[in-house]
Amino acid sequence: MKKDYEVIIIGGGPAGLSAGLYTSRARLSSLLIEKMGVGGQIADAERVDNYPGFPEGISGFELGQLMHQQATKYELETLLAEVTGIELQEGRKVVQTTEGNFTAKAVIIASGSERRKLGIPGEEEFTGKGISYCATCDAPFFKEKPVVMVGGGNAAITEALYLTKFASKVTVIHRRDQLRASPILQEKAFSEPKIEFLWNTVIEEIEGENVVQRIRLRNLLTGEKLDLDVSGVFVAIGLKPDTDYLKGVLPLDAAGYIIANDRMETAIPGIFAAGDIRRNSARQAITAAGDGATAAIYAEKFVTE
Ligand code: NAP
Repeated sequence: MKKDYEVIIIGGGPAGLSAGLYTSRARLSSLLIEKMGVGGQIADAERVDNYPGFPEGISGFELGQLMHQQATKYELETLLAEVTGIELQEGRKVVQTTEGNFTAKAVIIASGSERRKLGIPGEEEFTGKGISYCATCDAPFFKEKPVVMVGGGNAAITEALYLTKFASKVTVIHRRDQLRASPILQEKAFSEPKIEFLWNTVIEEIEGENVVQRIRLRNLLTGEKLDLDVSGVFVAIGLKPDTDYLKGVLPLDAAGYIIANDRMETAIPGIFAAGDIRRNSARQAITAAGDGATAAIYAEKFVTE
């Protein structure tokens, strides 16, 4: 495998794959580095109904595979590795990874964000033993079992609806008394007989022997405590950017997102940010793809000029 490229793209979600499509079609030698598998977060979505061009909807996994297929057609190279750092060296960027160092003139960072954790006792202990951050991946393990979904956003409600295909009952636990999810999802959830809601409520502790068996809840308005027997705890309480490795390299905002302008340029010439990792991203697959294309267009200008 080559070690030196014109462009290195970090992250294989819609932003990174679109960037790769554009840089490889511009005939720039391009390497895309992905930690887990192509598709990014969209690969976990059972169904995507808001990506233009697919009037019947498409599975998120398939959408990611198609994007990758399209980008690699133009000779984008893909490496499965974790990026651990970026170092600046006279006109080049050194991208450090678990598979060695690679250099490029321009780098497009599109490594997205990861699910936020609850940060409560029992969460770490039972992750993978009843606690899950991906309903599409793990719902089949909870056939005819009672589960809860924590969160009130689009992700929580989409996944709660999916869980009803498997679980005996899905209780949505939300810290307020109004959902953040879009009206269309709310309508679906409110008319789904298997979904119940616990409003103004948080989980304080997750308990069990080897696997999740019960959760301890607290009502935020009344202070009332309640124990609930459940087999599964699904968590969808938002995202946080995966930018720890960029601290000290690039300016980040207080929440850790990369600050970039409307050309996706960061404070460092030749380093671009695209998709969910960028401050003020709309966090949709389609906007991430747009960011990726924009970043690639200006990366091409940077490399060739
Ligand atoms: P989100 O929209 O930020 O919603 C997070 C939810 O979790 C909110 O309801 C929030 O409560 C709650 N929450 C946050 N921290 C919490 C904590 N510590 N304890 C308990 N609850 C907590 O995140 P998301 O649903 O993951 O979505 C992320 C982005 O992806 C959004 O832009 C969303 O639109 C997009 N997305 C879109 C689709 C779609 O278009 N179909 C599907 C999935 C995701 P509050 O409401 O009180 O803040």
